[in-house]
Amino acid sequence: MALKGLDIFKLLPKAHANCKECGFPTCMAFAMKVAAGGAEITKCPHVEADVLDKIAESTAPPMKSLTVKLGADEGKLGGETVLFRHEKTYVSKTLYAFSLYGCNSDEENEAVIKESAAVDYARIGERMYAEFVHVCEHHEGKFVDLAKKAAALNRGVILSTFKIDEAKAAVEAIKDAKPILNGANKDNYEEFSKLATDNGLVLGVNAPNLEEMYDLVEKLEKLGNKNLILTVDTHDIKTAFEMTVQIRRAALLNKDRTFGYPTLVNIAGLAKDDLDMEAALAALFTVKYGSILILSKMTYATSLPLHGLRQNLYTDPQKPMRQEVGIYPLNKGGENDPCYITVDFALTYFVVSGELERSGVPCNLLICDAGGYSVLTSWAAGKFSASTIAKFITEEVEPKVKSRTLILPGKVAVLKGEVEAKLPDWKILVGPNEAVAVVKFAKELAA
Ligand code: SF4
Repeated sequence: MALKGLDIFKLLPKAHANCKECGFPTCMAFAMKVAAGGAEITKCPHVEADVLDKIAESTAPPMKSLTVKLGADEGKLGGETVLFRHEKTYVSKTLYAFSLYGCNSDEENEAVIKESAAVDYARIGERMYAEFVHVCEHHEGKFVDLAKKAAALNRGVILSTFKIDEAKAAVEAIKDAKPILNGANKDNYEEFSKLATDNGLVLGVNAPNLEEMYDLVEKLEKLGNKNLILTVDTHDIKTAFEMTVQIRRAALLNKDRTFGYPTLVNIAGLAKDDLDMEAALAALFTVKYGSILILSKMTYATSLPLHGLRQNLYTDPQKPMRQEVGIYPLNKGGENDPCYITVDFALTYFVVSGELERSGVPCNLLICDAGGYSVLTSWAAGKFSASTIAKFITEEVEPKVKSRTLILPGKVAVLKGEVEAKLPDWKILVGPNEAVAVVKFAKELAA
């Protein structure tokens, strides 16, 4: 049960009362903050180890947060605190996997790798790709080879097998990749738990319904294993949907820690070779509440709407979506081509860059740090001013671009005189008010 502020205060060491080493003026203030989730109990250096565990356990978020290896990078799973994004924000975005199957020919697996690995692009500063390779073996013989192939792709690896010998061999072969070991079920959980624990791996707990999943998680927790992901092991869409929703509701609404783990859903298994259904189900389980979704392959047709959906869901609504500050050459623009400047609000970037590209005129789009707000908002807030523009131009643009033609957004035409005064070497023009007029403006300028 969660401890209240007063309970935590009673457990704090009295010998160092109000010493302020935690950064708070009193032990009581610190205890209240810890109870509210605003501070970590470890900030007090005087708490005894057993008390530390007790408080950390009771104040931990209702859903466990796991760290997984994604090749050279790391990813986070779980740690969610709300059922709906509008309540606050989601924390760990859904991650995707494409699959290598032992029952496929080598050529078929190579074709999946080639097609899926090609889907790798950035959108609003976020890398869009399949973060995992899933290895699944229904036939003898290829599991270790496929595991090695997957580990060489510099992504996370998910090993799906219920056979402990096969699991041991594959884990041994790619242990540096720290794969997710997806294979514990009611028959083998003790051996799989030991293998996962010995190697520091996240263990996939497979069950076809909620009751069996609950029992299995309790048994694994009794073995001391809390590094778990709950695998919805069913080929029935309705059951899979019920399981992901009920698991999340039990964890967050009922504060039932037994279900307080991320989930893994085998979308490819649910869609049964229907790629359109697979894409639709991937969208559904991105919304409700798959932490990792296994697809048969990742294609651009699947990725573009799916990653866009994920980005919309998993960005913090309290923080504006920003485009990275920098110089973006468009239509093969070079150092002598004119520079259009605008703000780092992602929507502004996409609209303006799209229109400039449509013009076909080589140019440079300059994205200036304006706090992630629109042109008028950032101008009104003083974040997109003659001073910020001049600073950005002299520090970031002039060393890289020879052109001295700068086009301001029409909505801040009022800045023209001030920018001219601060950038005497530049020819300052005022562009159109609306992005839709940019094509005509760019063509006339180039004529
Ligand atoms: S560091 Fe610990 S003992 Fe010192 S004021 Fe903070 S909570 Fe109290």
